[in-house]
Amino acid sequence: MNSNANAPRLDVRHLSTFFDTDEGLIRSVADVSFSIRPGKTTALVGESGSGKSVTSLTLMRLLPRTASTQVSGQALFTNRAGETLDLLALPEPAMRRIRGNEIAMIFQEPMTSLNPVFTVGEQIAESVRLHMGLDRAAALAHAQRMLELVEIPAAAQRLHEYPHQLSGGMRQRVMIALAMACNPTLLIADEPTTALDVTIQAQILELMRRLQHETGMSILFITHNLGVVAHHADDVAVMYAGRIVESAPVKDLFASPQHPYTQGLLACLPAQQRKRELAAGEVGAKRRLYAIRGQVSSPLAPPPGCAFEPRCDHAMAACRVAMPGLRNAGPQRAARCILVPESAAVPLEIA
Ligand code: SF4
Repeated sequence: MNSNANAPRLDVRHLSTFFDTDEGLIRSVADVSFSIRPGKTTALVGESGSGKSVTSLTLMRLLPRTASTQVSGQALFTNRAGETLDLLALPEPAMRRIRGNEIAMIFQEPMTSLNPVFTVGEQIAESVRLHMGLDRAAALAHAQRMLELVEIPAAAQRLHEYPHQLSGGMRQRVMIALAMACNPTLLIADEPTTALDVTIQAQILELMRRLQHETGMSILFITHNLGVVAHHADDVAVMYAGRIVESAPVKDLFASPQHPYTQGLLACLPAQQRKRELAAGEVGAKRRLYAIRGQVSSPLAPPPGCAFEPRCDHAMAACRVAMPGLRNAGPQRAARCILVPESAAVPLEIA
């Protein structure tokens, strides 16, 4: 443990997670490094199976207990007292004090986290009593304030309702209230709005942004939707087949994506397609939305060399020789592709 006032909130270094299965060893997360600045949002973006959710579960030490896993690397977390702790090396009791208190998580489906047999007020109050030591009445009053904070109408009444009595959007707000109840310094949001319709999704994302502005918390935002990232992240790391293939400040990534996979993800966005059509004077032409061809390779039989090679429009023989390393692609940028000119080594904090 050490003290560092200027440290990133979370500094993940060379994180790898392997699952030992009957069919062989699966490398789900491979040598992943990224950081999250205090008060800022870093997005981990990728398709299903890219390793982004396993990354967050590894950081929280919440991988299924039955899984035979091997984890290596460091996850240096700086708490509100300014102490830097390696989450992967902490004893379990210390990690339990951090979970829900310093670091909170919200998931895509609130019903997996909310207990159906307790009222939402009781569930928030229980967390507050556990981590903040408040008595029952004070904890319930705090729970009501949290429901008001996430803009749930008639909070005093909703406090005594069960999760099944609330709409999907309302349940996600309760989930955020629960996560925010102990004023976390880091919120891990894993696909928090994927199950919601577009209007409610926008409201929830706006709510998260407001809470971040008011509390100064950092956010690790995990999503498959690059379109959402544009408005809600400061930094982005794109994952493919367990590795980070590109990382950059969000504006730079959208202005000039360097990796063919990122370029493909951006091309899939309807807004980006419309922009291209406008530029080409092709408005109104009937076109199919772009899609990246093929599928992610099986982790049990990865291709030799670059993992994206079977789907890449720019692939060449050299891509099949060895997995490309991350290359410096500009200030605070890195990309894992041989098309990026080789220059100085990549500083650890950007990739
Ligand atoms: Fe495509 Fe080759 Fe770059 Fe991989 S290394 S992304 S196959 S060009």
